[in-house]
Amino acid sequence: MKFETKVIHAGIEPDPSTGAIMTPIFQTSTYVQDAPGVHKGYEYARTQNPTRSVLESQLAALEMGTDGICFASGLAAMDAILKLLTPGDEVICTNDLYGGSYRLMTKVFEKYGIIFKFCDMTIAGTVAKLVNIKTKMIWIETPTNPMLNVVDIKEICDIIAGRDILCVVDNTFASPYLQQPLELGADVVIHSATKYLGGHSDVIHGAVIVKDKDLAAKLRFYQNACGAVPGPQDCFLVLRGIKTLHIRVQRACENAAAIAVYLEKHPAVSKVYFPGLTYHPGHEVAAKQMKMFGAMVSFDLKQNSVENANKVLSSTKLFSLAESLGGVESLIGHPASMTHASIPREERLKVGLTDSLIRLSIGIEAVEDLMEDLNEALNSI
Ligand SMILES: *Cc1c(COP(=O)(O)O)cnc(C)c1O
Repeated sequence: MKFETKVIHAGIEPDPSTGAIMTPIFQTSTYVQDAPGVHKGYEYARTQNPTRSVLESQLAALEMGTDGICFASGLAAMDAILKLLTPGDEVICTNDLYGGSYRLMTKVFEKYGIIFKFCDMTIAGTVAKLVNIKTKMIWIETPTNPMLNVVDIKEICDIIAGRDILCVVDNTFASPYLQQPLELGADVVIHSATKYLGGHSDVIHGAVIVKDKDLAAKLRFYQNACGAVPGPQDCFLVLRGIKTLHIRVQRACENAAAIAVYLEKHPAVSKVYFPGLTYHPGHEVAAKQMKMFGAMVSFDLKQNSVENANKVLSSTKLFSLAESLGGVESLIGHPASMTHASIPREERLKVGLTDSLIRLSIGIEAVEDLMEDLNEALNSI
């Protein structure tokens, strides 16, 4: 079945009791049993909920896995994966990670004796040099946030092949429409479904997808034992969002490509970060492992002061100044003070995340209107 058909049909059956074509929101905490231990597969809603089960099957199908496991947020999904580790284990991570991921690793899990090594995975051989007997996980984010670096997933999976190391890919920025890490050799895919999967900026949700039943069972244990599960209404919103994932992401990517080219030519802009530009260092890898180049664009200003960045950030009318990404509406953000404020300034500057860097999440509006909005904001400098 093609992806565009899967988003509508995979894992979804009309409700057997009524024929309702849309998955019902099973707003219940418990299920009546016929006799002690005799039930229909559902006992208590932290452990199983039918709305959630449908979403979990659908996500497994979209990411080419065997199991999807849903959580209350992207960070709750990450938390469950990191709980697979024990003190002394090492994780090799992409160096310009989502700020919340960096915080979870360094402020929560380091305390429990897990060691995180951050590195530039775009440089060939970096991961191979860091791998040792204690390495238990490789954590890849690609494209990265907000520098939009591209990591070659297959190359890294090949390096660790045959070892007892899990390769985890945060696929939030690409969505399964653009990139399917399990097919490239990864073991675990994680999503903040808050972003492209939900797609309408109306829900916080996370998911993990794996292709191994034993690993799925371990993660389901943490899902139930720690309890960071999503409510059925939230699962419904993600299911509904996914039905148009392919159309939304495709349009947003087209808009982003046009805006990247436009920004490149603007006299106030010094640098544009977008994997679709042929001179972008990750262009070739992106062309190989992604269907399109994504809908996130970052750029820096020629007169790169915080004041000038603030002028642009507060002058746009269609681009809303907000954290998050992946919704139908375009957003503008300032990573240094917003999404990445939890990363120390020296660490930020090391990866090129300056105080004047601006990040755009391109939506599905008319691209002419978006360009005009950016033009007016840039001319305000
Ligand atoms: C937003 C985001 C997360 C965290 O997800 P929440 O749903 O906000 O908890 C993790 N990774 C990436 C790349 C994100 O953009």
